[in-house]
Amino acid sequence: EALQELLYAEHKHKILIVLQAMDTGGKDGVIKHVFDGVNPQGVRVASFKVPTSIEIDHDYLWRIHQQTPGKGEIVIFNRSHYEDVLVVRVHNLAPIEVWSKRFDQINAFERTLAEEGTTILKFFLNISKDEQRKRLQERRDDSTKQWKFNPGDLKERELWGQYMEAYEEVLSRTSTDWAPWFIIPANHKWYRNLVIGRVLVTTLQSLNMKYPRPIEDFSQIQIT
Ligand code: ATP
Repeated sequence: EALQELLYAEHKHKILIVLQAMDTGGKDGVIKHVFDGVNPQGVRVASFKVPTSIEIDHDYLWRIHQQTPGKGEIVIFNRSHYEDVLVVRVHNLAPIEVWSKRFDQINAFERTLAEEGTTILKFFLNISKDEQRKRLQERRDDSTKQWKFNPGDLKERELWGQYMEAYEEVLSRTSTDWAPWFIIPANHKWYRNLVIGRVLVTTLQSLNMKYPRPIEDFSQIQIT
């Protein structure tokens, strides 16, 4: 929390956190638990759903770029441009000639952001297929979780193998020095949160942030 306050005060660095996972993988849990206690003024969550008709009329990075962090800001992407090489690939929403070019395009895009001062951290929350079954069952049965249960998720579950193939290519082709992927074992929620928390703290510490110096000498000012 102190580090985030410093980030906000220094107004220099931009932090982009990308969260990707299979359904029930725990994106919401990470947002809730890892970022509890940070000042909402400096943190924003951007969720990317099925593109709207305006979004679909543009290139796939158009809506993404609009949500990238400004100075002093942390932005968490709940899903991201990676959907455009995941769900789009698995469901044939674009032909292979189109989506297969996107790995290089994404690397170039992220490189631009990084060179312009954005620190990018990408987390893949890795749950097993069996753990997903347990979590879906819990959603179906627990009245406090039923609101999250979407029968459509069962259809996606049948495509598990194809999603894993798509994720493998994402992780191997888009983990770069300027925007690394962290593959987080996510079957255990406490462990998942701990690992992500540590990566974040280490990254923020390495930025060597300092509180801004006053523009004038305040020591002579009397506060009566
Ligand atoms: P989440 O699981 O992220 O909390 P949700 O399942 O509650 O979200 P939905 O309204 O289902 O919310 O929105 C997410 C859906 O949008 C996912 O099924 C995802 O595959 C889809 N989606 C996201 N980006 C794209 C895209 N670029 N093209 C097609 N579908 C997309």
